[in-house]
Amino acid sequence: MLSGKTALITGSTSGIGLGLALALAKQGADVMLNGFGDVEAARAEVAAAARPGARVAYHGADMSKPAEIEAMMRACEMEFGAVDILVNNAGIQHVANVEDFPVDRWDQVIAINLTSAFHTTRLALPGMKLRNWGRVLNIASVHGLVASAQKSAYVAAKHGLVGFTKCIALECATTGITHNAICPGWVLTPLVQKQVDARAAQAGISQDESKRQLLAEKQPSLQFTTPEQLGALAVFLCSAAADNIRGVAWNVDGGWTAQ
Ligand code: NAD
Repeated sequence: MLSGKTALITGSTSGIGLGLALALAKQGADVMLNGFGDVEAARAEVAAAARPGARVAYHGADMSKPAEIEAMMRACEMEFGAVDILVNNAGIQHVANVEDFPVDRWDQVIAINLTSAFHTTRLALPGMKLRNWGRVLNIASVHGLVASAQKSAYVAAKHGLVGFTKCIALECATTGITHNAICPGWVLTPLVQKQVDARAAQAGISQDESKRQLLAEKQPSLQFTTPEQLGALAVFLCSAAADNIRGVAWNVDGGWTAQ
């Protein structure tokens, strides 16, 4: 039960972030959503699922812009009085060989997938330290542990995020604040749907065949991980049972990194 706790989840208007927001709100946490796209639909879905009494707010900060991140952190503290649970989830992908990689896309991937977590964490920690309780969950990826070709910016950012998680876990090791990374394999969200679409178009195959090939290449279970499964893991990592889980990079990848 997370009643009385507040959770800020970046990139929670869709996909994994929305799944995490739903899971935390169901446990009674007040939730601040963030991200682009259909904000009202996400807000309504989380409000409908939330435990009675849990509040839902939204801030539209762009995670590539430090000043907007600062404004979002201030807004969350003003609205809810604290940021107890910080989930760094916002992320983008760009697929290209490194010599063709657009420089502005490289900078964006690093800013959104890695540097935003530096800003949110440095701004959330003073309040967490005052209360001596906090949970920081960094949504990395199997690509924080192993690489795939043509994803250099993403793999660099996610390896960086796993390293960042370990470092801050050590800095906070004697406090009630834990930092952990979750490393999903394939999850069928809009981010991955784009890759399914690209493969289907390139090879002239159906959506189902494209999904099958995508999974068969990397994920031995041949099943997508779901946002609900990741939500349940996040709830566990926020529980007292996880008080001494610090600095892990927890893969949920159908066996991808066991190979
Ligand atoms: P998604 O595209 O469905 O959702 C991404 C979210 O981030 C959206 O809410 C979007 O609006 C938001 N966002 C994008 N740019 C933003 C910005 N500049 N500022 C604020 N918000 C922004 O993607 P997803 O698959 O749910 O991915 C969520 C996280 O999980 C990402 O960090 C991704 O790298 C990671 N991940 C995804 C998979 C997968 O298979 N889908 C696997 C491993 C890790």
